[in-house]
Amino acid sequence: MAVPRRSRRRARAAARRTEGAASFPRCRACGVRAGGAGSESCVVVREGFADEEDYVKAGGSELCLVRMQRGKAMDSQSRIADKLPPILLGNDPLDLVVIGCGPAGLALAAESATLGLSVGLIGPDLPFTNNYGVWEDEFKDLGLANCIEHVWKDTIIYLDDSEPILIGRAYGRVSRHLLHEELLDRCVKSGVSFLSSKVENIFEAADGYSHVVCEHNVVIPCRLATVASGAASGKLLQYEVGGPRVSLQTAYGVEVEVENNPYDPDLMVFMDYRDYSKQEIPCSEVHSPTFLYAMPMSSTRVFFEETCLASKEAMPFDVLKERLMFRLQTMGVRITKTYEEEWSYIPVGGSLPNTEQKNLAFGAAACMVHPATGYSVVRSLSEAPNYASAIANVLKAGQVKGAQAYERSNGNISTQGDPINE
Ligand SMILES: Cc1cc2nc3c(=O)[nH]c(=O)nc-3n(C[C@H](O)[C@H](O)[C@H](O)COP(=O)(O)OP(=O)(O)OC[C@H]3O[C@@H](n4cnc5c(N)ncnc54)[C@H](O)[C@@H]3O)c2cc1C
Repeated sequence: MAVPRRSRRRARAAARRTEGAASFPRCRACGVRAGGAGSESCVVVREGFADEEDYVKAGGSELCLVRMQRGKAMDSQSRIADKLPPILLGNDPLDLVVIGCGPAGLALAAESATLGLSVGLIGPDLPFTNNYGVWEDEFKDLGLANCIEHVWKDTIIYLDDSEPILIGRAYGRVSRHLLHEELLDRCVKSGVSFLSSKVENIFEAADGYSHVVCEHNVVIPCRLATVASGAASGKLLQYEVGGPRVSLQTAYGVEVEVENNPYDPDLMVFMDYRDYSKQEIPCSEVHSPTFLYAMPMSSTRVFFEETCLASKEAMPFDVLKERLMFRLQTMGVRITKTYEEEWSYIPVGGSLPNTEQKNLAFGAAACMVHPATGYSVVRSLSEAPNYASAIANVLKAGQVKGAQAYERSNGNISTQGDPINE
């Protein structure tokens, strides 16, 4: 029997709810039930996460596509191992180990090493795969103007059919390739060493050093470890109990060649909340509002991203994609070529790291993501020098072999020069 479209949608929604209650979610990307047999391309298993919250921060029911986003090949970006010397095993303990090679980890490692600390960076040797947008003035202030690949002289917001709002601020699209190279070069110049590995665990050894346990039981001793391994760092960090529940920003984007682009190539469209359909839109079982974020790279090449700013349950990528395609169709925009798809999943809000623990947190691991916008890159890059300097002061004062001894006498390190408490 043919099922009417709306009923099929309701059935899919009901199936999603049922799946949510089951122990293994179903991957929308490949239709594979996690943990099921014969599912080679995309199997989601909850093993490896500290708890349910950690699993949700990592991608939850959207984990397959989150992993696809993170696993994109970026051939133009250098491998970290080709540029940084290896961490030498069996040598004296490092002053600092930074865990995670995202923007936050690379920036903190470079800043800390510049201050004279021996710094080891540990994490999978992965490229930057996200398309970052920034206010041009903020990136210029960080000395990173050379990493912006496209600038719009102003930014526009459409809230409804009344006059749009011009922000009066230039916006830039970051070249992920150039940013990766720049931060890596800063690590090279400051003498950071590197180990390509996931970190499994960190423990305080009897000798007072932190022992960072990597794959294949490689253990790297250090005086301090800082976790910058992204939002889902629950295996390496403790978070305050009873804090706010994390929310999710999800967005589905496409960089495309189009006919009938309605947007001015000189303006970056930060939010277009206009009701483009004036009628019931597909996927009506998910009521949260979404808006369009659009970067016109030229009059015909545009990066469009349908965005759900924040939601308690992640708005699924397939719903966002359906909305985007319906929006573009209604606007009369015709896609003639697709260059890239993007799946953006950003945990916002949630509990802060517990400041009683010895290990420090930085970047998304430290909840430095803006709770309303989901932005964190500029924040992490601008706080890295302050954070590095607080770490260097503590270590140079000699109190840390044993960071806990220092904390007992001087208060907690994680609240000094503390980005999350300022
Ligand atoms: C598609 C997309 C677009 C975005 N756009 C913007 C934007 O325009 N502007 C903005 O400010 N933010 C944006 N964000 C959010 C931003 O990407 C993240 O908040 C930012 O990357 C966080 O940086 P980070 O270095 O703290 O963590 P991450 O970038 O998540 O990096 C963490 C690193 O740690 C590694 N790692 C994970 N686990 C371990 C482990 N156990 N051991 C060792 N290493 C580990 C990971 O491999 C990764 O390299 C976007 C996010 C996405 C997904």
